[in-house]
Amino acid sequence: MRNLIALSACCLVIGTAGAADPVVPPSKSVPNIRPNLAAAAAADRANIEKEPTAAGGPKYVPPARKNPAASAAAQREEEARAEAELSEKIAQRLAEMRANQAARIASAEKARKQKAVKAAAAEVAAKAPPPRVYGTHWTYEGESGPANWSKINSDWAKCSSGSRQSPIDIRDGMKVDLEQIAFDYRPSGFNVTDNGHTVQVMVGPGNYLSVAGRTYELQQFHFHRPAEERVNGKGFEMVVHLVHKDPEGRLAVLALLLERGKPQATIQTVWNNLPLEKGDTAMPSIVLDPNDMLPQRRDYYTFMGSLTTPPCTEGVLWLVMKEPVQASPAQLALFSRLYPFNARPIQANSGRMIKESN
Ligand SMILES: [Zn+2]
Repeated sequence: MRNLIALSACCLVIGTAGAADPVVPPSKSVPNIRPNLAAAAAADRANIEKEPTAAGGPKYVPPARKNPAASAAAQREEEARAEAELSEKIAQRLAEMRANQAARIASAEKARKQKAVKAAAAEVAAKAPPPRVYGTHWTYEGESGPANWSKINSDWAKCSSGSRQSPIDIRDGMKVDLEQIAFDYRPSGFNVTDNGHTVQVMVGPGNYLSVAGRTYELQQFHFHRPAEERVNGKGFEMVVHLVHKDPEGRLAVLALLLERGKPQATIQTVWNNLPLEKGDTAMPSIVLDPNDMLPQRRDYYTFMGSLTTPPCTEGVLWLVMKEPVQASPAQLALFSRLYPFNARPIQANSGRMIKESN
């Protein structure tokens, strides 16, 4: 810009001088004109001085190239040419600068547009739900194991994102006067399914437990080896989960920890009626009484958690009986032949409240 101002100022000086007084010697920017003019004038003077003044002498004819009028014309021509050149240069420079400026503006505008497009895309991505997947095959180990459950099916997102997941290591419980769980179990028809993840026993209607003002009906019970829950870090050989549901669909799971000891009658009834193939269901014509599995002492731990299998649904009320239930080594060994390992790893406690009977 500084150059342009200098050029313009220069042009203005030349232009003004040329218009007001064409015979005034040009500025220093056209230095070759002035010496030529001075030399021509000196030569003219010399010629005039040599010319005899007496009448009748030879007539003076000034040389065409040394004619002052011709020199002035040449000078004007030269000035005009220089001025035109300068104007052309200024015009070129201005055009370049305008082009550069336009390019800079276009580039800035392009960058701004790209930024806006990216921001819009990010906003859409943030609002859009993650791509849906619908796998159903899951396992306790390997590629389809617990660490990847949430990736197998979009409906299983809680398995990773949840903050009230089960199982947990039960510790630091608040000892309070917990009300007794009221059991209203009775001998019931049942069937036994080997569902590929565990042995599951569906129980006929009419078995209830009531706690904290709600009554839940027993739906089914199933087994894990080893026990999924821990108590102050201590593990157990197996656990029975009895899954209950209230009329609003809320779940309550009663956990019975199994330890090595004397045979357990209800478990034996289930083992006696195992289906022969995975995926099959055995439908015996006898009954079982869930009461027979309950420990004598009814103290328990309670906290909020989730299903321990996909979809890892939260909002599940957990009731873990403090006194373990005994099962014989043979009974424990039989299940281990079907399912040597079907327990989800311990999940973060995440500061949830645990209450326990005094
Ligand atoms: Zn379970």
